[in-house]
Amino acid sequence: MMTTSTTKTDANAGGWYEREIAHGSPLLSAPSADRPPTFRLTPMNNYRWIGMGDVAVRLRRCQEPLPSSTILYMESRLRTVEPLELEIAQEIPDVCSRHGRPAVSKMRFRTTFYNTLDHPRHPGKPTSSRFDDRAAPASTLLVGDWPICDQCERSNRWCRRIAAILAYVMGAILINFVVVCAAGWAEITPEWARNIGEIVVIPLALAVFPGTIPIGLLVAMLFFRKTTQPVTFRPIDDEKFVFVQAHPGFRDAMRAIPGG
Ligand SMILES: [Zn+2]
Repeated sequence: MMTTSTTKTDANAGGWYEREIAHGSPLLSAPSADRPPTFRLTPMNNYRWIGMGDVAVRLRRCQEPLPSSTILYMESRLRTVEPLELEIAQEIPDVCSRHGRPAVSKMRFRTTFYNTLDHPRHPGKPTSSRFDDRAAPASTLLVGDWPICDQCERSNRWCRRIAAILAYVMGAILINFVVVCAAGWAEITPEWARNIGEIVVIPLALAVFPGTIPIGLLVAMLFFRKTTQPVTFRPIDDEKFVFVQAHPGFRDAMRAIPGG
């Protein structure tokens, strides 16, 4: 069944697109003079990366080179686009884009986009494809300050705690595994201790692999990453703007910024 929905905008809504969603395939209207240039429709992107209600945020190239950006310029035959260092180029309202609540602080963020087979500037997708586990090269760094609400702050605190606890547990598992293996190999412990070692060595080995590597590490990284990303970015098709997932309250606040 065909579903059609239209999002309207007003003349002052810079960084905001009028678009129509039909058959789940969003189409953007021609931009006016105060909006970013035409959003390119290519077989590569075909707008399938944009969600309903997303907001476009204007970007520009960084005025100064970013520190520790060597990851962008490492040689890779998998990279198909020019490395870019970008920053937010417009005022962002003091509203949380996830919850639509008033912001209590701004979080400095630094997001890496990767040159995957799916998209040349894809946020947070470390492999080049589902069927190819070679790491996709970094293609874009985006930095800026983003408003977050009290809920986001609480959630970040919890995620950091969980990531820290996981790190401690994984460290303890690795140390115990090394000690048990070394003691067994050197045969320096009393017999009762060797017996205990023989009992625990297999569970410990499973806790190391796959428990810690890769499962524990991946889970800890997911929790840690959550604390460093105050907003969900979409893949970047044009260096002049990026779409972000937006709460209706955040969209209204973006539209209320004169010439924003
Ligand atoms: Zn929030």
